[in-house]
Amino acid sequence: MKVGVPKGLLYYKYHPFIEKFLIELDAEVITSTDTNKDILNAGVKCCVDEACLPIKIFHGHIIDIKDKCDLLIVPRIMRVREREFICPKFCGLPEMILYSIPNMPKVMTEPIYATSEKELYTWCKKLGKMVTGDTSKIKSAFNSALEEQRNFKFGIKDEGFKITIALVGHPYNLYDTFINMNIVKKLNKMGVGVITEEYVEEEQINLQVKTLFKRPFWTFATNSYGFTTAIAKHNEISGAIYISSFACGIDSVVLELIKEKIEDFPLLVLKVDEHTGEGGLDTRIEAFIDMIERKKNNENNISTFRQHISCS
Ligand code: SF4
Repeated sequence: MKVGVPKGLLYYKYHPFIEKFLIELDAEVITSTDTNKDILNAGVKCCVDEACLPIKIFHGHIIDIKDKCDLLIVPRIMRVREREFICPKFCGLPEMILYSIPNMPKVMTEPIYATSEKELYTWCKKLGKMVTGDTSKIKSAFNSALEEQRNFKFGIKDEGFKITIALVGHPYNLYDTFINMNIVKKLNKMGVGVITEEYVEEEQINLQVKTLFKRPFWTFATNSYGFTTAIAKHNEISGAIYISSFACGIDSVVLELIKEKIEDFPLLVLKVDEHTGEGGLDTRIEAFIDMIERKKNNENNISTFRQHISCS
């Protein structure tokens, strides 16, 4: 059986798991091509205007593979943590797709609650039964897939750069190089290293989130808020760039909470949509890095001056 896996949304984080699971069940995995202009245009054409860029792009990935597979996975990811949800758009993703794109193949739309291995296995059993008649293989395929995911190193922590900044945002905005216009490469070329939330202890993130009057419902909000406010206290991190999708309800709230908490810690918010031009993005990044370099130089000058005064 040919099973389609669109390269959008949380594919970047969980592809080792799903691909290994399907391969172990002897399915042929059909992935869409990396995001490009054609995928974007196809998605924009059929998706509702109000949707955010990653959702539009996901529609484009579906169009890219829908005629090449027997079964298509449209992941309705509800939860990856207890008492939190991912995003309302993830919950209704299959409906958005099925009402917008005609002539779809058979689609797997069962909700995914990945809060425990047991919950995740429930979903895998349903998918496995759609893929193979030999259900005895499902459990071992599941275990192999879990192992594959555990061995997958996710996140960025550059070393050896004179400046390090935090890159904040939802995984598809950070790891889809078409969406972010290859921002990590651009920063590295400017002598700037990057750290992402995967390299900050969950405990530190939770400590920050606990200072809010109420724990957020949304996992992305918890992660982005906890990470940005935690790294704002670290002297080695000089600033943060937050890549946010235009029309993302979660970001519109969490960004205000972050700004209120981090005060004068340098933060650049890059809002992206289908009209974002690379030239404008480059100018803003360059100006931000320039500002960080000047701030660092000023701080060095002040500390040298203080040392000089205390010696004389
Ligand atoms: S969290 Fe925001 S960017 Fe991500 S799918 Fe939901 S609305 Fe779009």
